[in-house]
Parts: sequence; structure tokens; C-alpha cells
Amino acid sequence: MCMVRLSTRRQRCNNWNEDEPCPNIVKRIKMLTFESRTCKAYQSDEGEYEVKDGKSMLHVSLNRKTCLCGAWQISGLPCKHAIRAILAAGLNLHQFCSTWFSVQNYKQAYANPIHSVPNFDHCPEIDMPTILPPVMKRSIGRPSRQRKRAPDEPDKGKRSTTVQC
Ligand SMILES: [Zn+2]
Repeated sequence: MCMVRLSTRRQRCNNWNEDEPCPNIVKRIKMLTFESRTCKAYQSDEGEYEVKDGKSMLHVSLNRKTCLCGAWQISGLPCKHAIRAILAAGLNLHQFCSTWFSVQNYKQAYANPIHSVPNFDHCPEIDMPTILPPVMKRSIGRPSRQRKRAPDEPDKGKRSTTVQC
């Protein structure tokens, strides 16, 4: 039912705003913004902030899109510390979300349909002889463990048994 899911998602994103991240990401950012209310951001340099979260102090770089907690780098979404810093800088939170979450990329991902593989009954009839697997003949005795070498191939050679310290 993969094609059904692709079709549903293609239709769903039709009226989404292309300048914003996907709606579930917008919701997540709102939730993180709410969580960030206990943090406090102090600017240390242009685009660089120290964010106080409880007893810990974390460095947030808006220039490199990193936070000391590491969540921003891993998820592609600003963590609560980064959100506090972005808000302190007076910038738009959505600009700091990775392009992975953009509506444009979502639309592109589901733009092309994947058609189902036809059933065997729907295969076209062809006027060709049926190809069967070769007849296997098992020879007497234990099967050889050594590979058969080509006539022009050199022998394997003996392994040295001399042990050197
Ligand atoms: Zn963080």
C-alpha cells in the first residue's frame, strides 16, 4: 500500500506554505519554544550566545548552528537553548531549521509515484521456449574442497611451515 501512502502525502502537502517548515515541525518548534522559557540567553559575540539552563551554561553559535548540548547538530532542529538565543537575537526560528524539514523537500520527496509491480498473471505471453535450470549431477564421494584451476593457471604453491621468532 506504499502508493496509497505516497498519494495521500502528495495531496496533503498541496496547500502547505512553502516558506515554512512542515506543519509537524512548526508544532515541535512551538513546543520547544515553550520549554525554552526557563532558559536565559546572554550574547557573547555577534551570533554567539551563552544560554543559562538551570545550573548549566551552554554555548550556542547561531553562525555555525550548534549548541553545546549537541541536539541541534543531530536533529537539524534548534534545541531549547538555541531557540532562546534565536529569540534573543530577534530572528525567525524557522530560518534555523534544517532544509530537511522544508515543505519544498517534502513535496519533492513525494512528487514521483511508485507504481506497483504487476502480478505474475498479468505478464505478457511470449512465444519462446521455457528455460529450465541445468540438470545437476552429483558425483560419487565427498565433494572436493579445492577449487579447480584453469590449465594455464599456476599451482597454489606450498605454505611454509618454518616458524621464525
Ligand atoms: Zn542545546
